[in-house]
Amino acid sequence: MKKIKENALVVFSGGQDSTTCLIWALKKFESVSAITFNYKQRHQIEIECAKKIIDFLSSKKKVQINWLKESIHIDHVIVDISFLSNLLHSAMIQDLDMKYNDETGLPTTFVPGRNILFLTIAAALAYQKKIKHLVAGVCQTDYSGYPDCRDATIKSLQATLKLGLEYDLIIHTPLMWKDKAETIKLMQKLGGLELYKYTHTCYKGERPACGECFACELRLNGFKKARLTDPLEYKHR
Ligand SMILES: [Zn+2]
Repeated sequence: MKKIKENALVVFSGGQDSTTCLIWALKKFESVSAITFNYKQRHQIEIECAKKIIDFLSSKKKVQINWLKESIHIDHVIVDISFLSNLLHSAMIQDLDMKYNDETGLPTTFVPGRNILFLTIAAALAYQKKIKHLVAGVCQTDYSGYPDCRDATIKSLQATLKLGLEYDLIIHTPLMWKDKAETIKLMQKLGGLELYKYTHTCYKGERPACGECFACELRLNGFKKARLTDPLEYKHR
């Protein structure tokens, strides 16, 4: 991968996909910052995971990714957007059971426009920090029907942000056309597979992960298809 001598800002949730994007960005860009959103998601554990991963990467001794510089600093900003929970009734924020909405066919975890909001706030931060590259782990392949994860949405948002900020911003989406197994293989190729130990996926918010909910199942199936072992601890697998 050709290194770009510029800075990037990664939208980073502490999940599997955004952690892959973080490592991808560290390989591709001269320096990397991360932005995490606290929107009172059901599991605050996600934010703890995000912090842990940044700490892990910043501590010289523990890093086992051989191409990573000995001392790296990732500027990590956590932005409170908890007003989102007053606005929405999504299972991702409130304690509703995961099911599908009969009308839209979308999972109840759907937070309408979440990625548009995240990327717009990230763009405002990037502008102030003079960063021209945003990286987001959105994906059209496994996108569960989320319309704001689609390539067309991201391209259109990029055009809007460029115009609205009058700033030459590029949104990178390295996972856009990958399925879970391909994302896992990319992380293996980047040498960051062990970092998945700290990522959070379980829908029930359990650690060790339950291994039985739909999110754990999707994750484990990805590893199975990639023929690799998930370093995460599970209660059942
Ligand atoms: Zn689970």
